[in-house]
Amino acid sequence: MQLEFQCQKCEESFSLEFSDLGTDPELRCPGCGAHAAEDQVENLLAALEEVFAAMSPLRRKFTSSVEIDSEDLPPPYDEAPSVARKAALLDEEEDEDEDEENEEAEEREADEL
Ligand SMILES: [Zn+2]
Repeated sequence: MQLEFQCQKCEESFSLEFSDLGTDPELRCPGCGAHAAEDQVENLLAALEEVFAAMSPLRRKFTSSVEIDSEDLPPPYDEAPSVARKAALLDEEEDEDEDEENEEAEEREADEL
């Protein structure tokens, strides 16, 4: 089974054999040498193993084929995760500022009384 990849950096397209990746989990662009972290490749391989295990018993009644395109993932995986995480961090900082202002206001009220 072939896995298809395209490099985000140089747009080189290449494919790797699933069993070869299992032996040597290295995902490296043959064009520019960009590579993925080994644990990310191992996670992908482990997840695919689970898909294969789930598909195998189905074969008695149905053959199946699934195309997984990382540019066309279902929600919530269709959004860029790094952008979402940054927005969440900014919200948290704003909340902290509001809390400090409220505490100061309460102290002032206590002094007046
Ligand atoms: Zn490349």
